[in-house]
Amino acid sequence: MVRCWGRMSLVAAMILGGCGPSATKVEGTGAPPSVTGGCTGGPSQAAVSVLWENPRAASGNAQLPFGSALSSAWAVGASLSGLRGNCLVDTGSFRVVSDDIYPSSIAVANSTNLMYPPDRPEFRQLASVWWASSAQKMVSSLGADFSGFASVDVIAHCALSSNAYFSPTYREICLGYKSLGGGKYVWASDDGDVVVHETGHALNHELASTSALNSTGEAGALDEAIADYWALTYFGNSKIGEGFLAALGASLVRDAAASHQYPDDMS
Ligand SMILES: [Zn+2]
Repeated sequence: MVRCWGRMSLVAAMILGGCGPSATKVEGTGAPPSVTGGCTGGPSQAAVSVLWENPRAASGNAQLPFGSALSSAWAVGASLSGLRGNCLVDTGSFRVVSDDIYPSSIAVANSTNLMYPPDRPEFRQLASVWWASSAQKMVSSLGADFSGFASVDVIAHCALSSNAYFSPTYREICLGYKSLGGGKYVWASDDGDVVVHETGHALNHELASTSALNSTGEAGALDEAIADYWALTYFGNSKIGEGFLAALGASLVRDAAASHQYPDDMS
């Protein structure tokens, strides 16, 4: 597999298998917090809308053209619990305090109803945090201890072309985009597989020391595989990235149903 991002060598990035457009994002340089919370008595739980996995899966039509307008009919209701009550979208483990591309449209937790339609930036910010939080709960249910888990900033519209990553250094999940031209984008944050995969890196790094399970060499390959495993388990199907990765190239969608052996099937 090919890493395209030499300067991000310490970053647990998606392995996309090919080199897309060069990234402009430098990790840790996200927009400064645009919302600071600070209230007391904000809700501890709020209703949110999320896609089930990604637009292609949620629409029930795997052939949904990229760049299609996303319908609210494909979204389902969910409950984002564990909010800290500070009026930020902040569960203590995952939070939204900045947005590279939509800094003026950052969701705040000032209501128990945060159900935005899929064409709003707030929809993807909230869905990303909900997926991340839910994935953490899934792994917790297996007995993992996240009591010391330091908060991770989720950047739902990250200024990063054709990729996504978790940075253990800056405690941020950067969810990039694929530009289709004409002002249309496929967002990594609309693809739950990608969100859970990157969240999985954050969980993996918490459960194993970075010297044992880091993001380089064979340990990095294990990190990738386990992050994929969390996404596969969470959504309960064999394919990963039918939304975002497919937009980058159909061959990049990973399918656990495929039977390959190392190193015989390497190409
Ligand atoms: Zn990865």
